[in-house]
Amino acid sequence: MPDRLDSYRAKRDPGRTPEPFGPAEEGVRALDAPRLFVVQKHAARRLHWDFRLELGGTLRSWAVPKGPSADPADKRMAVEVEDHPVEYAGFEGLIPAGNYGAGAVIVWDRGAWRPVGDPYEGLARGKLVFQLSGYKLHGEWTLVRTRMAQGGKQQWLLLKHRGDAWAGPGRPFAEESVLSGRLLEELAAGEGRAERAVREAERLGAPRRALSRGDARLMRAEPRGAPFDGEGWLFEVKYDGYRLLARREGARATLLTLRGEDATALYPEIARPLETLPVDAIVDGEVVVLGPDGRPDLDALEARSRLARPADVARAAIERPATYFVFDLLALGGLDVRALPLAERKRLLADLVPRLGAVRYADHVEARGEDLQREVRARGLAGVVAKRADAPYRAGRSSAWLDIPVERSDGHAAATHDASPPVPRAARPARPAREVKVTNGEKVWFPADGITKADVVAYYRAIAPFMLPYLKDRPLVLTRYPDGIDGKSFFQKDAPRWRPEWMRTVRIRSEDAGRDLDHFLVDDADGLAWIANLGTIPLHVWSSRAGALERPDWCVVDLDPKEAPFEHVVRIARAVRALCEELGLPSYPKTTGQKGLHVLVPLGGQLTHAQSRTLGELLARAVEAELPEIATTARALPARGERVYLDYLQNGYGKTIAAPYAVRPRPGAPVSTPLRWSEVTARLDSSRFTIRGALGRARRLRSDPLLPVLSGKPDLMAALERLRVRMAASGAGRARKSAREGRTTR
Ligand code: MN
Repeated sequence: MPDRLDSYRAKRDPGRTPEPFGPAEEGVRALDAPRLFVVQKHAARRLHWDFRLELGGTLRSWAVPKGPSADPADKRMAVEVEDHPVEYAGFEGLIPAGNYGAGAVIVWDRGAWRPVGDPYEGLARGKLVFQLSGYKLHGEWTLVRTRMAQGGKQQWLLLKHRGDAWAGPGRPFAEESVLSGRLLEELAAGEGRAERAVREAERLGAPRRALSRGDARLMRAEPRGAPFDGEGWLFEVKYDGYRLLARREGARATLLTLRGEDATALYPEIARPLETLPVDAIVDGEVVVLGPDGRPDLDALEARSRLARPADVARAAIERPATYFVFDLLALGGLDVRALPLAERKRLLADLVPRLGAVRYADHVEARGEDLQREVRARGLAGVVAKRADAPYRAGRSSAWLDIPVERSDGHAAATHDASPPVPRAARPARPAREVKVTNGEKVWFPADGITKADVVAYYRAIAPFMLPYLKDRPLVLTRYPDGIDGKSFFQKDAPRWRPEWMRTVRIRSEDAGRDLDHFLVDDADGLAWIANLGTIPLHVWSSRAGALERPDWCVVDLDPKEAPFEHVVRIARAVRALCEELGLPSYPKTTGQKGLHVLVPLGGQLTHAQSRTLGELLARAVEAELPEIATTARALPARGERVYLDYLQNGYGKTIAAPYAVRPRPGAPVSTPLRWSEVTARLDSSRFTIRGALGRARRLRSDPLLPVLSGKPDLMAALERLRVRMAASGAGRARKSAREGRTTR
């Protein structure tokens, strides 16, 4: 009976190549079940990426000469090649000279794929749509068969779909293996960072000594109550999982639990990368199963660990893979490194284990434990482990490691587990080799003005010192215009997975999306430039900050004129200001960059979003009552008539306004510009505030007139009381009447 692997086997000699030969087994699977995918980077005669999808007991395979691209504009040629055995997905190594496909192979990415529709039908029809969930590749993709063939081989195109968070221009994928962390070139050369780390350990004086099982016992943390900062301390994130000691010896991996039980068979997806490490080692870390929100899911880990049948384990390893966060090193290349200071051990460890994949290096921050604790709390993680940077690795409990759990809101500490740890992106030290390149900078984004993408990116970089105070710690919503203001645009809240490590994010539950979204936080000019280079024109910001998302810093009344004359906007803005003064509240205006004005009142985190909205509504209704002929709070367009709409509904959890200094996607490239009240007069022409003049203006003004909104903390109780009295005395009746009219006017 012909086998789908006949062609594969015919090309290879099992005595001469380390590649697997495996049987083709036809398992019974639901058509849309998640299945294994792998991408191998292969330095054969010509470099290519082998894209392989498990289906019907084999890996369907395509050779992609240029590799996958996250840019939907890139159509990557994919030549159909012979099916490979499923075990091939774990193959990384050198195919010796003289063999078919001789050269180095690394596992460039790996994970689960899920067909959209019937995959057999899709393949037969020549259009296969599928979802990928790997370490590098995500989201929806398509393989489309072309009419062309090459040497009898069918040609396809591999395409990334538009419109998900993983689609974007450029080639931002990391190039190293998700198994061993090695670059293809390192594997081909037989020499890389790991081998150099062994020599470095030798230079540091680590003795050559084999560690027995008894020697290799785990170091434990002591409990400690409060977070702290301290020079000479390293702070790691602690995750809910199981502590595991892993030994790699002669291309065999063993995983041992805290109690010394062998857990190797439970987590094949962790054992395999350890086997592919180029040198022997003993490492210490925590195994977790990450939930869809990116947080460790202890229940899922427990369920995983109860599986006994190898077939169930193999399935789970694809559908819910575990991740082993490695935070310490006991032995390396036959050397006992336990006596080296922790900081040195981690440096060696960072050269040994990958940053991406099922086995990952767990990073740390130096000295700034309180910042990390705040970050960990905001992300809903278990806590922080503080470790003395100069401490050796010693079995048993030690005060050189301190376990600092996050306080829960009920005042109890989270359950104390053993030290665990990936450092979230947010807490990674912000100094990596950064490079923010402008891609397609010559693209004209504002055709009437000749303003290019490069101009916009350069503007954001230059305005950063003025803009960043308003962005700090605030979740952002981007509006991307990849082809400029006349092209298509889309909102983006969720930061793509392929963002650079130094881009900070905050994870926020989205009820609309039904899942958690990682929102960008921008700390510096590089981050701002990187965001602009995504094709972002306007940036919108939350009124509240990560760590205090429930507490807005300002209340905004948005004056939206539509067809009303701008002088009416000015009159209403001044009325809002006068009312605020009467109530003892500061207020600050800015142009929206569209046709209207924003008036912001500082709250100093004293109100909830709902209370802020009530304050906005009371202000708006009071002014509406005062200027009923030109002002309205009626939302429906017909009810507004020619009046200016006072919108207080932009106050609320997750609501945003255009950030100060943000560019708006309108001809002239207007910029939302902070104003002094003395400028808010009938002569104000907000269209003058554009990308061309914004930087000069910001520099000329001695101080930013809007900046006090970030620090103001007025007496809101007194203000609300005055407002209540005022409305009860006179305005309320009128306000209610006009609101009623507003609602019923057609
Ligand atoms: Mn190949």
